[in-house]
Amino acid sequence: MSTTNSIEIDIQKAATSKISQIDFENLAFGNIFTDHMLLCDFADGAWQKPVIKPYEPFLMDPSSRVFHYGQAIFEGMKAYKDEQDSVWLFRPEENFIRFNKSANRLAMPSVPEPVFMDGLKELLKIEQEWVKKGKGNSLYIRPFMIATGTGVIAAPSSQYRFMIILSPAKSYYSGEVKVIIAEHYSRAANGGIGAAKAAGNYSGQFYPTKLANEKGFQQIIWTDDATHTKLEEAGTMNVFFRIGDTLYTAPTSERILDGVTRKSLIELAEREGLKVEVRSVLVSELVEAVQNGTLKEIFGAGTAAVVNPIIGFSYQDVYYELPPTENSYALQLKEKLNNIQYKLAEDTFGWTV
Ligand code: PMP
Repeated sequence: MSTTNSIEIDIQKAATSKISQIDFENLAFGNIFTDHMLLCDFADGAWQKPVIKPYEPFLMDPSSRVFHYGQAIFEGMKAYKDEQDSVWLFRPEENFIRFNKSANRLAMPSVPEPVFMDGLKELLKIEQEWVKKGKGNSLYIRPFMIATGTGVIAAPSSQYRFMIILSPAKSYYSGEVKVIIAEHYSRAANGGIGAAKAAGNYSGQFYPTKLANEKGFQQIIWTDDATHTKLEEAGTMNVFFRIGDTLYTAPTSERILDGVTRKSLIELAEREGLKVEVRSVLVSELVEAVQNGTLKEIFGAGTAAVVNPIIGFSYQDVYYELPPTENSYALQLKEKLNNIQYKLAEDTFGWTV
């Protein structure tokens, strides 16, 4: 048992660690998990005592609501280790707030801050050997919540399970990314759940993304569902366009996830003296910009890769390739953000915890 400032956690340590069997140089993203996990059940209208225990499968009733009605949400964040072996989180409060916004939208109970934050910190203390030093190395953190209440009844569950699992990650290079601009499919609609990190937002993307993959494109740039004229997100990332020397990104809305990387890059870019405009970019503007040579960069922004440069896009079956970038804003901003995350530069924003 451990008592942190505000919460008691039941801690059951694994008898042995599997860390010595892990090849940290060759990690495929999201496949390996650490020795322990955190779980906390919601039952009888209250959150029960959180437990940290060995990572293992658990039993669920086949009628659990998550299987039938998709009441499931998650977060994605990372822990980094500095040269002095301290472990750092990047703006975890943002993920906590977004998690409960998602919970609210899916009619799930809010997770108390001590369960999320103290639970996470306690779990990281136990698993700190799994956070490797060196730029590019990190421990990916996956908090999630599922409806565990039973009954094939299309109504919110009265029982939930909140969990945190951890997966060691290396920086990955996604290769050259070409995208298709969505003309028919949408990932989100006004009044829908696009601004939540709800599981269903991702399963809904799989089929159109599969069609794009079959045509040789890695991702889709999502457009607004009503008119398919405004550029909104790239795959599972927010998206930035550099036209001339200005960076553009869409304002967050009911259809767009309020990404922590996106908002951090906006602040960083402004501090670096780059011009940033938060406004919707039209597909027609993008086509015009690539044709007249003013489109310099397109990149996705998200926790997994920080930035993901896009080399070309297809629209109405015409493929447009971007010219090679000199002094890439994407790579400059990635470097600056990584330096803050790994404590290689002073964190004047107060983002690291
Ligand atoms: N949009 C979507 C749909 C996402 O799933 C993510 C990844 N969480 C992002 C944007 C980027 O968000 P963040 O920078 O907080 O990782």
